[in-house]
Amino acid sequence: MKETKAKILIVEDEKKISAVLRKGLEEEKYSVDDAFDGEKGEQLALKNKYDLIILDIMLPKKDGIQILSAIRSSNIEVPVLMLTAKGTVEDRVKGLDTGADDYLVKPFAITELLARVRSLLRRKKDAEKSATTLTIADLTLDLVARKVIRGGKVIDLTSKEFSLLEYFIRNKNKTLNRSTITEHIWNYNFDTGTNIIDVYINHLRTKIDGGFTVKLLHTIRGVGYVLKDQ
Ligand code: CA
Repeated sequence: MKETKAKILIVEDEKKISAVLRKGLEEEKYSVDDAFDGEKGEQLALKNKYDLIILDIMLPKKDGIQILSAIRSSNIEVPVLMLTAKGTVEDRVKGLDTGADDYLVKPFAITELLARVRSLLRRKKDAEKSATTLTIADLTLDLVARKVIRGGKVIDLTSKEFSLLEYFIRNKNKTLNRSTITEHIWNYNFDTGTNIIDVYINHLRTKIDGGFTVKLLHTIRGVGYVLKDQ
């Protein structure tokens, strides 16, 4: 399966450092957003979904600790790598106490930063893999109880629909074509003329999206389907 590369936010007011970070991360094919002050950084961090945030502590308008506590109090579990100035042990402790996952002291080598990034992303992935619940927007799928809840309402799914939804959530925001879905859920290829996939997906869609304003399951005409929350 093709991996989508991680999306990373850099919040750093020193333009030179930010540019070095961006270049290094983009060379590793990560997709990068940047913010040069605390307000903008917080806005992006709360609005978009990132796989990782690199957060400087000393920032104009709002400092990194304030941003971090806003992220954590919004229940956003994104890994955060803090950048701190040399000699500020207090900042580091405060950062870790507020919910940072790791920190680097300036000046640092870009290779070290990239290694930390890889390790944090790996940890995030492992945690996701061992999770017993998967969520998208207000929908939760409980893999142990085999239960689906959306907006507080229990949704009854057949076992095939459940597998289908699990596969979609594990690949959320990614467009999946019919043959990939078929291979995954049925382990063999239907001949291409069949519309059984569409029938299953329509049933699933009615169950998970029916009566909800925000639709999660979308048809991408001529391509396939995507379950998305953005
Ligand atoms: Ca700074």
